[in-house]
Amino acid sequence: MLIIENLTHVYENGFKALDNVSFEVPDGQFVALIGLSGSGKSTLLRCINRLLEPTSGRIIWNGLDVTAISDEEIRYLRRRIGMIFQQFNLVKRSKVITNVLTGRLGYTSPLYSFINYFPKSERDKALANLQRVGIGSQAYKRASELSGGQQQRVAIARALMQDPELMLADEPVASLDPATSHSVMKYLDLLNTEDGLTILCSLHFLSLARTYADRVIALKDGQLAFDGTPEEIDNAR
Ligand code: ADP
Ligand code: ADP
Repeated sequence: MLIIENLTHVYENGFKALDNVSFEVPDGQFVALIGLSGSGKSTLLRCINRLLEPTSGRIIWNGLDVTAISDEEIRYLRRRIGMIFQQFNLVKRSKVITNVLTGRLGYTSPLYSFINYFPKSERDKALANLQRVGIGSQAYKRASELSGGQQQRVAIARALMQDPELMLADEPVASLDPATSHSVMKYLDLLNTEDGLTILCSLHFLSLARTYADRVIALKDGQLAFDGTPEEIDNAR
């Protein structure tokens, strides 16, 4: 369970990007976070895994108060929470499997740019995760050789190396065309329905939220503007 309680974030320049936002996400839910560009979606996601420190309010995740934790607990938190971004954030010249393997925290040494320095169990896990997102056959290509949709699936496989219980996706398909967007969303949906992975995914298009999400949360100027099912949002308009 993720509890967001009166969350406010004010950037250093005084801009209030989140204004008293509250909601709860039960385990296993697929939540689409929608809102215009600048409405605070990214700020919210980044507060949850403490890439940002919220100004006030609380975030409780599985009983852990994310807003009042030590650096060591932040490392623990980031192991349990996966995150993917609009720009994939892959090392483009490296192989797909190397990108996935280095997603596991702790492999910071340059030695780990060689696939064989990883334990076999990790390599097997990386291949299995690539297979989960339908790109097992691309494992030994350079990341730069893959299409955008495939690269985002590499990023998902990388996030899965940590066995996350919650996946934060910050506009994961915003730079992809509609068909490719579905190829990415389909696999997020699969991880949600088959593994029960809780997903909080910001999206530009309500149409994608309708197809994949159990619930839609809309932000407007940093405030919660709507919280309900995709069907309810149609009635609200
Ligand atoms: P979204 O993800 O919905 O596009 P963001 O959370 O990225 O929205 O941004 C919310 C608002 O906060 C925007 O108006 C943005 O310009 C502003 N903002 C984002 N980052 C910073 C920053 N580092 N300093 C000041 N303002 C910021
Ligand atoms: P890198 O340059 O990224 O370190 P290498 O070419 O050195 O990768 O390959 C490291 C290991 O990865 C190989 O010894 C082999 O075990 C495995 N490997 C590489 N390419 C393939 C492939 N096409 N199919 C199966 N295993 C491969």
